[in-house]
Amino acid sequence: MNRRAAIIGHPLGHSLSPVFQAAAFAAAGLDVTYERWETAPADLPARIESLRAPDVLGANVTIPHKEAVIPFLDTLDPDARIVGAVNTIVARDGRLTGHNTDGPGFVRALHEDAAFDVRGARILLLGAGGASRGIAFALARAGAGELVIANRTLSRAERLAAGVASATGVPVRAVPAVECVGFSAVVNATSIGMSGGPDPAGTPVALAGADRGTLVVDIVYSPEETPLLREARARGLPALGGLPMLIYQGALAFELWTAEPASVATMFDAARMELARRETMQP
Ligand code: NAP
Repeated sequence: MNRRAAIIGHPLGHSLSPVFQAAAFAAAGLDVTYERWETAPADLPARIESLRAPDVLGANVTIPHKEAVIPFLDTLDPDARIVGAVNTIVARDGRLTGHNTDGPGFVRALHEDAAFDVRGARILLLGAGGASRGIAFALARAGAGELVIANRTLSRAERLAAGVASATGVPVRAVPAVECVGFSAVVNATSIGMSGGPDPAGTPVALAGADRGTLVVDIVYSPEETPLLREARARGLPALGGLPMLIYQGALAFELWTAEPASVATMFDAARMELARRETMQP
């Protein structure tokens, strides 16, 4: 029987998930169609209900629904409960379980693609939006020594810092802005530098004072080389882009749906081909 999975969001035009998930299902020889389910907020309850159909494996969830889906699910896995956001829904026997694979995907990218050991590390996290939430909890649970969260809207950073500190015991400070000094890693989880975003040519922090060896991570994946990553490389700092996190969060979702290993190499190839195709189409 052909089965279905999908991504649910609004708008979805930019999403790479349909491209690399379809490639992963094909590589695994699974008869699964991965669909793009553009869903306005008013249509979310009916959309989630439709996941209970017997041929549906589940769905990914993206902006702006990651928190709004929670009341329509039957259970939450512990990571999704602690983060308060769901990016993956697994449908089994008509029951819907919410997971969050963003944070684990990010930590896997640090380990596998930057050989970075989170344990004991002092990390600067820029941004306090949806992506930053998953990352902050995952870093704290992976053993980070201290987190500093800097965000334009300080109250948002303060709420996140208090939640992570009380859930994990890791010291977390919230600041409106910060100098990039004394950190093992600096992570951009704002939309600055994203093509089509609020400030595509900008960088979220000055790297001038960064210690030698500070790992600079940008979770923005379009373009693959953001202005922040370009500056980091020009300064001789190690740098990691957002594509590995995107692929690993998707691979974890694939594995939750199918109980089979995802071919991350296939997913990377498909995503990179699509990004290259889009870059050649830009004016
Ligand atoms: P979000 O919830 O809308 O949060 C956006 C964040 O960026 C907030 O902290 C916001 O600050 C800040 N921001 C936006 N414009 C700004 C500006 N002009 N100056 C300073 N700060 C600004 O978005 P999100 O879901 O967290 O996503 C953030 C970025 O991460 C996006 O580029 C997205 O594509 C990327 N992302 C990547 C992955 C991956 O797998 N690699 C996964 C998820 C997201 P305020 O709180 O002050 O508004």
